Amino acid sequence: MSSLVIQTAFLGDVVLTTPLLTALAARHGPVDIVTTPAAVALVETHPAVRRAVAYDKRGRDRGWGGLRHLAQRLRAEGYERAYLPHRSLRTATLAFLARIPERIGFHDGWPFFYTVVRRRPGEGHEVDRLLALAQQPAAAYAPSLHPTPEDERAAVATLSAAGIPDGSAFAAVAPGSIWGSKRWPHFGELARQLATHTPVVVVGGPEDAGLGEEILRAVEGGKGRSKAVNVCGTLTLRQSAALIARALVLVTNDSAPLHVATAMGTPIVAVFGPTLPEFGFGPIRTGDVAVGVTGLECRPCSRHGPARCPLGHHRCMRDLTPEVVAAAIEETGALRRRD
Ligand code: SF4
Repeated sequence: MSSLVIQTAFLGDVVLTTPLLTALAARHGPVDIVTTPAAVALVETHPAVRRAVAYDKRGRDRGWGGLRHLAQRLRAEGYERAYLPHRSLRTATLAFLARIPERIGFHDGWPFFYTVVRRRPGEGHEVDRLLALAQQPAAAYAPSLHPTPEDERAAVATLSAAGIPDGSAFAAVAPGSIWGSKRWPHFGELARQLATHTPVVVVGGPEDAGLGEEILRAVEGGKGRSKAVNVCGTLTLRQSAALIARALVLVTNDSAPLHVATAMGTPIVAVFGPTLPEFGFGPIRTGDVAVGVTGLECRPCSRHGPARCPLGHHRCMRDLTPEVVAAAIEETGALRRRD
C-alpha cells in the first residue's frame, strides 16, 4: 500500500505539508515524497517519510527530459496512489506519466490529470487546506520537523562558539525572504534594542549573510550589553531548525523560518508587509503574533509579495516600526521566560 506525495514548492510550503504527511502515514504507513533538493534534508528524517526523492526541476532534472526520467523512476516503484498538494501542471504531469493509478489533487489544480478531485478550502490556514487533500479536519495534525542528534550537536556547538552556552537565553531573527518586498528593513534597529536584554542570533541561508552583517553593525553601533551573532549560511536547514528550537522567540518575515519555528514550537513574531496572515501562511499557534501596518490602501498588493514595491515607497514595511515589533515580542511573553 505505497503512497507518494509530490510537493516541489518552496521550503515553507514543504514544512506546511508535514501535517499532511503525518495524516497519510497514519492511514497508509510512511510515505515517499518527491520534493526539491533543498527540502529533502528537511523531510528525510520525518517519521512519516519512508524516502525523500529529490527533483531538481530547475537544474539537473529540468525540462521535459528530466520530468520523463523521474516519471520512469517513479513508475518502477509501483506506487498505488499519489497525493498532489502542489497545484502545478508539472506535478500533475509527473504523477500521470508515472502511471500511478490513483492520483489525488485539488479542484483548482489540474483535475484532468487526477483520478480523485478534492475541494481545496478557500479560507483557513494553509496547513488545514493541505490536510483537506486527505479529508482531514482542520488542525488534525501540526507541522513538525525532526533534526537528528548530530543536528542538535551542531546547533549547540555553533551557539557555544558564539559565546551562548547550551541552555542560555537568546532571541533569533530571520531577516531574509526570496521576495524583496517581504523583507522588513528595521531588523538592525530591533536587534539593537533586543541586544540590551539578550543575545541576538541572526539565522538564514548563505544568501542572507549580508543582511546578517548589517544587523551586526547596527548592534555594534548601539549600547547593548549583549551581542549579536550572524550564523546565516553556516548551518544546514535541520541544524538551523535545531537552533531556532532553542530560541526564546523568532522574529521573522512572512517566510520559511516562520514555518520552521512553528514546527519546532518556538514563539513567533511575524512581520507582514505586502501580504496578510489571512492568506493562510501566518502563525498558527495561540500566543504567536503577526504584525503589519493598517490603513495602507495598497496593502495587500500581492498573494506572495513582489520582488520590489510596485509603488516604490515600500511603506507596508518601512512604516512598521521596531517599537511595534518590540511590543509584539512583549505580548508573547517570550523574553520573560529567559533564565
Ligand atoms: S504596493 Fe503597498 S503593499 Fe505592495 S509592496 Fe508597496 S507598500 Fe507594500
